[in-house]
Amino acid sequence: MDYIAKIVEDQRRYFLSDATKPIAFRIEQLKILRSALKESESEMIAAIALDFKKSPFDTYTNELALLYSDIDEAISKMKRWTKVKKVRTNLVNFPAKSYIIPEPLGVSLVIGAWNYPYQLSLAPIIPAIAAGCTVILKPSELPSNTSRIMAKIISAHFDPCYIAVVEGGIRETTNLLEQNFDKIFFTGSVPVGRIVYQAAAKNLTPVTLELGGKSPAFITESARMKMPAKRLVWSKFLNSGQTCIAPDYVLVHSSVKQQFLDALIAEIKSIDFSFEQGTYVQIINERNFERLEGLIDHNKVYYGGKVDKQSRFIEPTVMTNVNFSDKVMLEEIFGPILPVIEYSDLADVISKVKQGPRPLSCYIYTEDKHIKERILKSISFGGGAVNDGVMHITNPRLPFGGVRESGMGSYHGDAGFRAFTHYKSILDKPTWIEFNLKYYPHTPLRLKLIKKLLG
Ligand code: NAD
Repeated sequence: MDYIAKIVEDQRRYFLSDATKPIAFRIEQLKILRSALKESESEMIAAIALDFKKSPFDTYTNELALLYSDIDEAISKMKRWTKVKKVRTNLVNFPAKSYIIPEPLGVSLVIGAWNYPYQLSLAPIIPAIAAGCTVILKPSELPSNTSRIMAKIISAHFDPCYIAVVEGGIRETTNLLEQNFDKIFFTGSVPVGRIVYQAAAKNLTPVTLELGGKSPAFITESARMKMPAKRLVWSKFLNSGQTCIAPDYVLVHSSVKQQFLDALIAEIKSIDFSFEQGTYVQIINERNFERLEGLIDHNKVYYGGKVDKQSRFIEPTVMTNVNFSDKVMLEEIFGPILPVIEYSDLADVISKVKQGPRPLSCYIYTEDKHIKERILKSISFGGGAVNDGVMHITNPRLPFGGVRESGMGSYHGDAGFRAFTHYKSILDKPTWIEFNLKYYPHTPLRLKLIKKLLG
């Protein structure tokens, strides 16, 4: 695949020309991206509907609006982010100036996942542009129409030596990973994250890995029921559960279990989850449909459980009497199945969560400040919300990312800018004076003076 090597080579030449570095250029490119997306909105909405029946409302709110917000944030904060930062100089180096210069990492590769194809492919491009990098985007091949439309939009508005889209699957991604990039930004599963990290290690390329995992939602004894049920149902069944930060399972205190289940089912029943209503999307493909079908234990289904293979539809399904060792608890669900695990001892259930991989998100529904703080302090996870679900991703001032198995690094807002930036530290000294203490000969007097100075 010589064309891939050629794009990387062209981008490297372009980056080395310093053309991407002027701030005015970066702002201009962000504006071009924004207006390109705006003018393609209806085409993008049509493409994603073809892929998995995503509604115009969801496409706008969950994909495009987040992109516009990130672009606007980048444009408005560009001056602050790119500013050379002065820091105090230490005594040993007196007199001198010390400062930090943000510089673009260079030629970057962005690999996207399929579940929010526009957002997950294009959102990392925004900080890459803001930082002054060039980008090759490899969107997920599963939603083929969205992949094609992104390639079309990008190629119509950007020179491939600056921003290019390479479409394809494992073969193309493997080839891309053989190239020498200055930055790789990957969103996807843990197993593929490992492949990406290993490939990056060969060239010592810095990576951001936005991965997945099982995110718990705590319903504690002090939780209100109606509002948490409303927010939990929305965040779980949004995109038919195919959301990396969806609550994967519920941990409910036994004293409020029945109350919670009643509120949960009432909330689910109040919504007509269907493709026609735009409240549901298809499971992305047959392979994922079959995987999800295999996770439903009909002996434990409390609500739902109906599936339709033809249309790749799985009804919102709640499972109860679930244990940590059940099949549904052994992998990330990534679909509309909600297992509910009952607990009576918070310390015990916290310790169970901590035995597993670190979650991407955690949600705590409680009115008790002490319980909230206990969970927040004890469990390590990427990010999350108290008395809400998923919405933390919408605040560009909150860095978004995982920890250990759920990811490495973060983005959105200035965290994204930092992901594509190297901070170059400079000590800048005048030549009119020099203290000679460090030079030879190293006499006892000099050592005495140094000790006096440094303590
Ligand atoms: P995936 O890992 O299968 O695919 C992601 C990308 O990697 C795609 O572009 C795909 O073409 C490529 N790829 C797949 N197999 C590859 C291989 N063997 N070698 C090289 N490249 C390969 O993930 P997915 O199914 O698209 O997305 C679902 C996963 O992503 C879930 O685990 C979910 O939690 C996670 N996710 C995380 C975030 C986040 O922001 N942290 C967001 C969305 C999805």
